[in-house]
Order: sequence, then structure tokens, then C-alpha cells
Amino acid sequence: MFFHLWNGLVNALAIKQSCLICKQISAQLICRICCNDLEQFDLEQCQGNLLNLPAIEQVYSKLDAQALFAVAPYQWPLANLLTQLKFSNKIIHAQAIANLFNAALQKTNTTLPQAIIPIPLHSSRFRQRKYNQALEIAEFIAKTNSLILDVGHCLRHKATQPQTSLSGAQRRQNIRNAFTLASPLPYQHIAIFDDIVTTGTTVNELIRCIRQHNPHIQIDVWCICVSLANKHL
Ligand SMILES: [Zn+2]
Repeated sequence: MFFHLWNGLVNALAIKQSCLICKQISAQLICRICCNDLEQFDLEQCQGNLLNLPAIEQVYSKLDAQALFAVAPYQWPLANLLTQLKFSNKIIHAQAIANLFNAALQKTNTTLPQAIIPIPLHSSRFRQRKYNQALEIAEFIAKTNSLILDVGHCLRHKATQPQTSLSGAQRRQNIRNAFTLASPLPYQHIAIFDDIVTTGTTVNELIRCIRQHNPHIQIDVWCICVSLANKHL
């Protein structure tokens, strides 16, 4: 009896990990209570494609993708986790966030793409930040779902301003011709991955670039959150 109690105490102390949201001790990066409390999209209801929901299709009617998959609307607490991953070097958040994505994906019968392509960062932004948050999350998603993580074909050769403060027209101008493709993609079906899709202008520009070389490729957009407050592409 004492042995079991002692072992339990040692294990509890050894974990020393707390939930990233509520900070309570937890064996998971996000505890079960916080997971259950997250407002997530009902992806089973829309067959793993949010564009099947009229309210979301209306917002993203100009998105040039066959499917849109997101875990949740952009709001607390996921918004905080994503911000900390992006600006405060909290790389551990990438795994926690990817776990949520994988759990959501497994609830659907979505046909998986052959490869996942994270939105590339420009080299100057990468040098400044030292990592690409979309790539950090996509790496875990690719590994869990046995997908190719393709970071070799799509390049961002134009250093753009942050899109958040720009109007719709300014966003499109800012991101125009930002991407190049090193060579045509050797796939029939891919997912472009970004942590947050706001207006969709950035993913649309990468899709436009890819379709110049691969006009018939199936492209899905995968992300953690969509920001439904921004309704104009
Ligand atoms: Zn928690």
C-alpha cells in the first residue's frame, strides 16, 4: 500500500506539467476539462468541410479551395495560445494545438491529402522570429497522419507587411506575387496550412501561384482558427 502511494506521489511530482490553459497539473498539454470546454466547430456535421456550412461559405465565398478545415473560431483561449506561439517563442504550444487539430480531423471521414504545405515565411521574418509557427504545428500534423510535409516547393520571396492592419484591397496588393513555386508539385491533392485564416487573402495568393503550375490539383485549406469577424476577402 505504502509502495503504491509512494509511486503515485513520485509520478505526480515527475509529471510537473500543467495545462497550458488553466495551469492545473495535467498529463496532457491541454487538460480534458479545458478541451471539453473549447468551442469547436462540428466538423462531422459538415463532412470535414466548413464550406458546407452556409454561414461560413458566405464569409469565405472567394476562397479558391475545395475544402476548409478549422478547429475553432478565433477566440480565447486558442487565440492566446496561437499568439504566444507566434510572438513569445512558446514552441510547446505547437504540439498542443496540433493535438487538437488531429483529434478534430480523426472525427471526420475526410480524404487526406498527399502533402501538407505550411504557408512559408519570408527569410527576413524567419531570421527575426527564428521559426515559422505554421510549420511547427504542421510538422506534428504531418507526422500523426503520415503526410508529406512539403517545405521545398513553395517560397515566399517578397517581404510583406503584416496583413492585420490593412484593408481588403491593401491586403491583396501587399501579398500579390509574394510566392513562387520552385517546380510544379508532384501531387494531385494537397492541404495548405496556416495557423489562422483571417480573410483568406494569403492562402488565396499561394493557391493562385500553385494553380499556375498545377491547374487541376485539389487544394484544401487547413488551419487552427478562422476569424469570422473579418468578412471581406
Ligand atoms: Zn486545463
